[in-house]
Amino acid sequence: MPELPEVETIRAQLAPRLVGRTLARVEILDPRLTRPFDLFEVAEELEGDAVAAVDRHGKYLVVRLESGLALLVHLRMTGSFGFEPTSHERAVLELDDGTRVGYRDVRRFGTWLVLEGSDLEPYVAEKNGPEPLGRRFTSAWLAERLARRRAPLKAVLLDQRVVAGLGNIYADEALWRARLNPVRPANGLDAGEIDRLHRALRAVLRAGIARQGSTLRDYAKPDGSSGSMQEEFRVYGRDGLPCPRCRTTLAKTRIGGRGTWYCPRCQPDV
Ligand SMILES: [Zn+2]
Repeated sequence: MPELPEVETIRAQLAPRLVGRTLARVEILDPRLTRPFDLFEVAEELEGDAVAAVDRHGKYLVVRLESGLALLVHLRMTGSFGFEPTSHERAVLELDDGTRVGYRDVRRFGTWLVLEGSDLEPYVAEKNGPEPLGRRFTSAWLAERLARRRAPLKAVLLDQRVVAGLGNIYADEALWRARLNPVRPANGLDAGEIDRLHRALRAVLRAGIARQGSTLRDYAKPDGSSGSMQEEFRVYGRDGLPCPRCRTTLAKTRIGGRGTWYCPRCQPDV
């Protein structure tokens, strides 16, 4: 599933091609993409409008239109954009300069929602906490959020209202970097540990953006090339391999149904 660094990479590639262009033709091919709204009505709302900006909030892509409308895209499991025709396309945008932007989604969990610009902020704010790379995401803010929850730390970090845009991969990488066990109760961390976690979260997300995301099964950049963050993984998917810090064999467990990788020695369950 694309996480913040993957969505940010997609945003950065779409923006220069879309901004300033008119959506000359909008074809939505899958009713699941826009439901409960009718796909033809959504296409009609978008067609003829021009793109003012392509933004991101957590895992949401936001295509802001000159009319004031905004198209909110969530890629979920397997959504991606591309400039070349491909299989499993669920929508196609044709721009006034002839650029073709296809939306591909094998599993079909992705969503497209058109909102009035004024409805966008409240909609997103209800689902997402502050941007983890922004100024509002402070160590104190994170401490306050963690203090309310006794659930395993990893599960709380995956709540988008706590760390917007974080998913399974970057959560495991951040916990390893911060030397925190993923099953510890979220409200059991001391101030020093929370500071470490805050720094680790930002560091792994920045590293992911710098590497243009991690290319596993489903994530693809719009230009068709691959991200390389998977080469930088320290724990994710590496059970049975030595910890890069202490050489102890990395372990795998499940938390909230999600595969979770950690070092039993560097990340003790105190
Ligand atoms: Zn270790």
